[in-house]
Amino acid sequence: MDPTISNSRRGFFTGALLHREGRTQLKESIKPIGPSPPGLSQIADAHICSSCDAYCVQACDQSVIKRHPDNHDLHGIPYLDFSENGCTFCSQCSTHCPEVEEIELESNHDLGKVVISSSCYLKNSIICMSCIKSCPKSLIHLNHYRQLDINIKNCDGCGSCVSSCPAQALSVSA
Ligand code: SF4
Ligand code: SF4
Ligand code: SF4
Repeated sequence: MDPTISNSRRGFFTGALLHREGRTQLKESIKPIGPSPPGLSQIADAHICSSCDAYCVQACDQSVIKRHPDNHDLHGIPYLDFSENGCTFCSQCSTHCPEVEEIELESNHDLGKVVISSSCYLKNSIICMSCIKSCPKSLIHLNHYRQLDINIKNCDGCGSCVSSCPAQALSVSA
């Protein structure tokens, strides 16, 4: 066989495989890890955070602001991590951001909605009510079927319930 053809076929298949894996990696690397801190999504979209000293991170007394890592397309841009606390919408992050005077600040008190996964103990016939008292707006209840009933309409995605769940069943989706 003509070695040129063989090499080009191999290159084609390798390229196709890399392409598929590459597509998955690309999808992960451009997807935000979590929602933007309230009021800062326009700034984050402008990709101007990577050269900042992260004043928002320092200002957050709940320690829920993290920065996308260096190997992520959004590196340096802040996102909310609810693994230990929720956001109280105190506005300290936007108040301490040096860019707020240059970019019109949105008043965002809606980070998304809570989502329950199938790992919720109640869905697996295990009694648990850990998240019920964690919601500052008292939106989480048990229904007659011993399943969670969440008033999603009024959920602002604060993430306060996320860390209360021993089954890691709760997350916030934009
Ligand atoms: S609004 Fe307050 S609690 Fe929420 S991310 Fe900003 S500084 Fe942290
Ligand atoms: S249900 Fe919504 S408003 Fe209540 S704690 Fe969870 S994320 Fe926050
Ligand atoms: S804390 Fe988690 S496992 Fe327990 S009821 Fe709430 S969502 Fe389900």
